[in-house]
Amino acid sequence: MAQIVRGDIIARELEAETRAGVAALAQGGIAVSLAVILVGHDPASVIYVRRKQQAAARVGIRSVEHRLDAATSEADLLALIDRLNADPATHGILVQLPLPPQIASDRVLGAIAPDKDVDGFHPVNVGRLSTGTGGLIPCTPLGCMMLLERVIDDFRGLKAVVIGKSNIVGKPVALLLLERECTVTVTHIHTRGLPDIVRSADIVVVAAGSPRLVRGDWVKPGAVLIDVGINRNADGRIVGDAAADEMDHAGALTPVPGGVGPMTIACLLRNTVQAARH
Ligand code: NAD
Repeated sequence: MAQIVRGDIIARELEAETRAGVAALAQGGIAVSLAVILVGHDPASVIYVRRKQQAAARVGIRSVEHRLDAATSEADLLALIDRLNADPATHGILVQLPLPPQIASDRVLGAIAPDKDVDGFHPVNVGRLSTGTGGLIPCTPLGCMMLLERVIDDFRGLKAVVIGKSNIVGKPVALLLLERECTVTVTHIHTRGLPDIVRSADIVVVAAGSPRLVRGDWVKPGAVLIDVGINRNADGRIVGDAAADEMDHAGALTPVPGGVGPMTIACLLRNTVQAARH
């Protein structure tokens, strides 16, 4: 039977560490504070923002919501970010994506001070990640690595296959695995012969947004599978990108829900404390 790597439990442990970090900073007179910017009323974004704020409250981080009208101009949003960048009492700045069409996400993400960029999306942080020189690491990829560390002691030389090449998951996960000296293959929708590529892997990270993409016979016995996917199936249930019921022979796998998802939020809080220490 594959070991189930319970992200929900591991995320609670990480939250406890973060809570201790927040308390230590409070003793030094620093009240850790996260600015959360939501433009418009996209229902999924409203839920994500609420979850992040609830999690912040659990660890003692003050979250300050800036809810802007859907018609807000890019200039007004950039002006708010400038003010928050300059405010020493704000340690982290998060802009909930997606943004309305009149606002260019890349300009907005690039306007956040890199040291307050708790999502790790600023080009400076992307550059730091690619050169292995610290910085704030995107939350979902960081969560994936923390889950992998629970079941793998030595990453060196392991073959890792990443399915999906998005800027928020696939590419940064690949860089983190490379940093640990895995031999990394990044695949995507146009990759040819994906099943055979996956069959060679000791580690599979799938972030494609495609339910049951990774089948049991693609995964070699003993391999570790991190399923980042969040999809709603025909019965309305949340499912991942792997056919979890076919993975008994895997070494370990993350469940959906209860795997990578809770780690993402826990890593956001961890990054906020890192930013405050900075
Ligand atoms: P995206 O749409 O930006 O990128 C998907 C990537 O997967 C693309 O590179 C695409 O080429 C590749 N892909 C799609 N179908 C494929 C296929 N059939 N074969 C091979 N490659 C394929 O998505 P994203 O933002 O990276 O998110 C991916 C999934 O992860 C989604 O289900 C999303 O909801 C989920 N997600 C979960 C968390 C979390 O916290 N657990 C965070 C972010 C994203």
